[in-house]
Amino acid sequence: MIFYGFKSTHLRTAPLPIGTNCPACATPDAMKASVYGRYAHVYWIPFFPFSKSAVAQCEHCQKAWEEKTMPAQLQPGVRAIKQSTSFPLWNWAGLGVLVLALVGAFIAGRYHERDRVAYLAAPHAGDIYTIRSMGDSTKYSLLKVLSAKGNTVEVAANEYEIDDRSPLSELNSPEKYTKTTESLTVLDLQIMHNKGQLTDVDRLTE
Ligand SMILES: [Zn+2]
Repeated sequence: MIFYGFKSTHLRTAPLPIGTNCPACATPDAMKASVYGRYAHVYWIPFFPFSKSAVAQCEHCQKAWEEKTMPAQLQPGVRAIKQSTSFPLWNWAGLGVLVLALVGAFIAGRYHERDRVAYLAAPHAGDIYTIRSMGDSTKYSLLKVLSAKGNTVEVAANEYEIDDRSPLSELNSPEKYTKTTESLTVLDLQIMHNKGQLTDVDRLTE
């Protein structure tokens, strides 16, 4: 369950224009307007602001009016103060972090794709390929490059298959690989990649 809600904060208090009298006690120049902002929060982290409201109050008699019940002579001044009050940047904190995280993930994904193509073209001992099972496309396993010479790589297959697109952390331990090896060419690897059979390359040691 996600806990979310709305919160109000005081943004600004400013005097109404010179010449404004209190509609209740007629004291001149004693009126001020306070602007409040509402923002949405998720787990108390502000996400985005969405509305403003204003209250006018007389400093002399303390009578206050909300916008709905505000006498007409106060409205233009209050509206002007409200419009010139902006939401503070921290109201956007959650949404900002979320957008930054998405942009970061996108850029990281692009870099990873570029690395994958470069790693496949020039294999290193220690590269680990993620392989989609031929029999069951929901299952994944690993191939480990033991040595790379020219256009040929010696690989050991992992003996396990799991239904996780990133099986590296679970399957990459030495005792889980077969003792027998297999030779593949760089072209074989590229064909497997193009067919979607080889889905990822990780180079753990540079
Ligand atoms: Zn008053």
